[in-house]
Amino acid sequence: PVVRGMEVEEKPNVRYTDIGGLEEQIGQIREVVELPLTRPELFREIGVDPPKGVLLYGPPGTGKTMLAKAVATESGAAFIHVIASEFAQKFVGEGAKIVREVFELARKRAPAILFIDEIDAIASKRIDVGTSGEREIQRTLMQLLAEIDGFKPLENVRILTATNRIDVLDPALLRPGRFDRLIEVPLPDAAGREKIYSIYLGRMKVKGEVDVKGLAAESEGLSGADIKNVCVEAAYVAIREGRAYVTNQDVFKALKAVLNKREAKVKERT
Ligand code: ATP
Repeated sequence: PVVRGMEVEEKPNVRYTDIGGLEEQIGQIREVVELPLTRPELFREIGVDPPKGVLLYGPPGTGKTMLAKAVATESGAAFIHVIASEFAQKFVGEGAKIVREVFELARKRAPAILFIDEIDAIASKRIDVGTSGEREIQRTLMQLLAEIDGFKPLENVRILTATNRIDVLDPALLRPGRFDRLIEVPLPDAAGREKIYSIYLGRMKVKGEVDVKGLAAESEGLSGADIKNVCVEAAYVAIREGRAYVTNQDVFKALKAVLNKREAKVKERT
């Protein structure tokens, strides 16, 4: 299924066990997204409406997209993935129409998860409606809100959205019946970082013991995406030295390189 030449339906293969840490977030998502999709009769019988929309918020690279993909996989639901900034930018004058078509597709493919990433691009309260581009964004948002309002809670489609900038979101988006369930996806704590290292190193050829606890302790402030990057870098360290396996030392070396790079970037900005 294609909307305006965009391939919006994906077949993710992410399981909950591929996600390091975020146990609490996974628990919440199972309750408010997976359960209504797999056991709608529970909600019907007891007489409550599950939330239509869930907002995932937190820093970049912490696993928001992964969570959305995993719940689709685990619920056996179709996964429709769009990036809000593309609604308005790619097809000037057609943002609202595209929103309508995407929702139509999600209904057709139900049970489905509709994941809208970077929602702040069309739902920021700082957008004033001066230029025609801003009016276009405004119309796109209006259409999105109308689509969500038009949904019946037990239609077999759940809408997930994500942002790094919850502080700029238009409160209209968060009103009851819209994205009224907020789930914070923070940077991983030490235990989470340790799990993320174990997941990625577990998929690589490693020789000897790796001190994942020590790595986690020295990785404060890194996201899941950063930690994955450290593991990939470690593989390059090994390859450069003509080895087909990674050692503890390689991973620490890679971590140091990644931390140095980050520090240089911070300095550049200040
Ligand atoms: P963005 O805000 O930049 O879209 P995001 O929060 O959606 O980020 P993801 O796209 O889910 O982040 O994560 C990027 C990549 O980092 C993932 O594909 C995965 O490889 C890795 N990653 C991030 N968080 C985790 C985690 N908790 N466990 C395992 N891998 C992770």
